[in-house]
Amino acid sequence: MARKFFVGGNWKCNGTLESVSKLVDTLNAGAIVSTDIVEVVVAPPFIHLPLVKDRLRKEIQVSAQNCWVKKGGAYTGEVSAEQLVDLGIPYVILGHSERRHIMKESHDFVGQKCAYALSKGLKVIACIGETLEEREAGDTIKVCAEQLTAIKEAIGENWSEVVVAYEPVWAIGTGKVATPEQAEEVHAELRKWLAENVSAEVAEATRILYGGSVTAGNCKELAKKPNVDGFLVGGAALKPEFIDIINSAQSKVAA
Ligand code: PEP
Repeated sequence: MARKFFVGGNWKCNGTLESVSKLVDTLNAGAIVSTDIVEVVVAPPFIHLPLVKDRLRKEIQVSAQNCWVKKGGAYTGEVSAEQLVDLGIPYVILGHSERRHIMKESHDFVGQKCAYALSKGLKVIACIGETLEEREAGDTIKVCAEQLTAIKEAIGENWSEVVVAYEPVWAIGTGKVATPEQAEEVHAELRKWLAENVSAEVAEATRILYGGSVTAGNCKELAKKPNVDGFLVGGAALKPEFIDIINSAQSKVAA
């Protein structure tokens, strides 16, 4: 079964009503390849979700960047999975490295968030990845496996609505992109992990995205690698070049 290419844009904590409106206009005006070959999702800050959802072209879906770990209630400042579903938001990013490292979200907490979001009908973009220190110690696969294990312990065999984003922390927002060979090596190991620890079917069907300083300039070569099923993009998702990154799905088809 062919995995459909996937391009996600993570807008992080950026934007004003004015700049977000302009970005939506840019995305609405861009020529993008058919959604038969690429699934596109953008993740604005919570506060801009309704505006983006209403005004953005319907070929591009909308995601939240986070949600609470259980049913809403007395959790000041949080947004629940139920509230996202109520708003008609189909996706949520969970386990982004900024939440793991700055907000100190543990592997288990991220796993529980994935399970709760899935149970409410959200699709999950689950982020994993190692720090520079961990890579230099030769622990890349070990760390990613620990992160995946925590997700697996929480969600079991239920991976059909999960997209995995491999985002090495040293590559996020640094301009230091993994080479296509480095990305492919890790993605192949992650797929092997899924085959050995979940099932061959899940390993074959699950999209594994690369994230970390992806640009219009480097996306085509990355996209050609067999185990790179798309991208999660930060900085470049705020610029017109995001259109070119979406269209790198063509390099995949041609590869
Ligand atoms: C991200 O935040 O998910 C990301 C990959 O950021 P950037 O593309 O800016 O490295």
